[in-house]
Amino acid sequence: MSSLNREAVFLILQFLDEEKFKDTVHKLEKESGLYFNMRYFEECVTNGEWDEVEQYISGFTKVDDNKFSMKIFFEIRKQKYLEALDRHDHAKAVEILVKDLKEFSKFNEGIFKEMTLLLNLGNFREKEQLSKYGDTKSARAIVLAVLKKLIEANPLFHDKLQFPTLENLRLRTLINQSLNWQHHLCKRPRLNPDIRTLFEDHTCLKSPCAYLPVAILADSIPKVSALLPFLR
Ligand code: ZN
Repeated sequence: MSSLNREAVFLILQFLDEEKFKDTVHKLEKESGLYFNMRYFEECVTNGEWDEVEQYISGFTKVDDNKFSMKIFFEIRKQKYLEALDRHDHAKAVEILVKDLKEFSKFNEGIFKEMTLLLNLGNFREKEQLSKYGDTKSARAIVLAVLKKLIEANPLFHDKLQFPTLENLRLRTLINQSLNWQHHLCKRPRLNPDIRTLFEDHTCLKSPCAYLPVAILADSIPKVSALLPFLR
């Protein structure tokens, strides 16, 4: 993506956020892969929205990209698995084991076997390594801290964790500047131009009863800066 296109995406992200298009803003973050919104990620992990957590992160990395990515996916799926076990949803736990965790057995067969054995325990806290697992809320807080560290250490995320510094309402400012420029080109500019569309260039000539005689206006054409803002 060219650097101007990247910047255009950031302008749109800012606009979507300011206009509170809550789902769309995260979809675009993910689809463009340009900005990883840690705040949103934290929210999803804290609420245990594991499918969304994995979907979102998949916009930025795949399981086998590097060791950090592999660990990230493993931690997410392991937590999803433990939560299913903890609420005694055996069918779901088996599904997660087969669909999500099995692929890690090629890296570490021992861990996969141990995880399979947890299915037979009434409470996985009987296992020594998991004896400190508290309730779901505290377990999610711990896994979130681990995930954040892995994300911050992952080179694929390095330039994606910081939203660029730009003024509020930047897209709107640019549109206003463009409208002002279009009006500046009007041969017979109205004092209070009536802007009703962005779909085509503005011209005062198109509005009925649009203008005063040029001679009268000559002294009173406002400076461009004074015209701001058409859009509010
Ligand atoms: Zn005009």
